[in-house]
Amino acid sequence: MSTPESVSAWVEANWHLDLTLAEWWQRLADAGYAFPHWPSGFGGRGLRAAEAAAIQTVLGRHGVIGPPTGNAPNMGVPTLLAHGTKEQQERFVTPIANGQNAWCQLFSEPGAGSDLASLACRAERDGDEFVVTGQKVWNSSADSSEWGMLVARTNPDVPKHAGITWMMIDMRQPGVEVRPLVQMNGGAEFCEVFLSEARVPVENVIGGIDNGWNVARTTLTYERGSVGKRYPKGLVEMRAGSLSGNLDRRVGDLIEVSKQAARDPNKRFDIMLGAKSMIHLARDLGLSHDPVVRDRVADYYVRSEVYRLTGQRSRDNAKGGKAGPEGSIMKLALAMLAHRSRDLSMSLIGADGMLMGSDARENGKVQRACLSSFAPSLGGGTNEIQRNIIGERSLGLPREPGNDNDVPFRDLKRS
Ligand SMILES: Cc1cc2nc3c(=O)[nH]c(=O)nc-3n(C[C@H](O)[C@H](O)[C@H](O)COP(=O)(O)OP(=O)(O)OC[C@H]3O[C@@H](n4cnc5c(N)ncnc54)[C@H](O)[C@@H]3O)c2cc1C
Repeated sequence: MSTPESVSAWVEANWHLDLTLAEWWQRLADAGYAFPHWPSGFGGRGLRAAEAAAIQTVLGRHGVIGPPTGNAPNMGVPTLLAHGTKEQQERFVTPIANGQNAWCQLFSEPGAGSDLASLACRAERDGDEFVVTGQKVWNSSADSSEWGMLVARTNPDVPKHAGITWMMIDMRQPGVEVRPLVQMNGGAEFCEVFLSEARVPVENVIGGIDNGWNVARTTLTYERGSVGKRYPKGLVEMRAGSLSGNLDRRVGDLIEVSKQAARDPNKRFDIMLGAKSMIHLARDLGLSHDPVVRDRVADYYVRSEVYRLTGQRSRDNAKGGKAGPEGSIMKLALAMLAHRSRDLSMSLIGADGMLMGSDARENGKVQRACLSSFAPSLGGGTNEIQRNIIGERSLGLPREPGNDNDVPFRDLKRS
């Protein structure tokens, strides 16, 4: 049983600025404080979400480096805990709990985004391995990941949802070529990935051959639930995996680097302005007495509060720790708020919106957020797809009609 006092005492005994990040994350995982809601032995203590959050609050008060973040803990590990064998969980989850590995998500393709089940990347059986050939795109952090969560077509002779397999692919092999894509906000968060006869041992299949759609639905549910989730207050966030170059560095040095990065506007990719920043912006520009501006800013403030409170409600509903359709509601609300933030802040700064960098107010904070505001309405599924999910799974509306659900994938007309 962990109390705030016992967690505090543990931090005081274990956190030293001279530890390497790898050592610190190992201690956090061994104590079960890395992911307290995961099972014990996997960096957790099998606690309920609320109890786990209480532990993170205490860690945050100490200002330590928090647990590893990214695709793997957000959506990959929950998928393995739901569908993986005990051996697979031990093999793949342990290096996530202690931050040794990072994973990317190899789902989207140039011809398969919203309609993911149309994916064409093929995995053909060759003895104890699959040989994988195809192209993936928009894969966040693929250039700094040891492993990829891959969905590939293993049987083209059955309808599109039936012949897909979910597998862990080693990104460090000759058949995997990763090319980062530079975005309009200046970042290069995601990549395109070319797979040319890459090899995946059959033992890396999660949830059974041709059962990948079922497994992918779990991944996508957790992905939607994680969009917009805030890192616990006070904790310092650090990139996981050996390719990040952080594991052998002193945690004291990493904290300094992180403080400097937080002050550097070129390293920030906020997708929106918070309500307080919006009010500050209107005041600063001398617009806070304009009745139309007041009305729009007040509207933005109210919507931000509704978003915050809806998040609180969905967290309370999900105290059991399972992601549900609330994830789609929150993701949609976040994307809509980001677009509102973009439209309102850009209208407040007017023609200055055309400036960038040091020429611009606050180094182009508003302009940068504007350029980043498109991400949440696409990543993890578009707004239209979230509306479909909410309609079908929460409101019980009829499923979207499809005319290709019974046709073998091989016979589908594809562009
Ligand atoms: C920041 C970011 C990070 C991402 N990270 C990853 C990642 O790590 N791994 C990965 O695999 N992918 C990733 N993606 C890709 C993302 O999942 C896709 O962009 C998304 O699923 C949409 O697919 P698409 O871009 O092919 O658009 P399309 O599916 O071609 O959609 C085009 C338009 O048609 C609309 N539309 C399509 N189908 C319907 C329908 N049935 N009903 C109504 N409207 C519809 C869409 O809403 C959209 O407006 C990322 C994307 C972004 C922006």
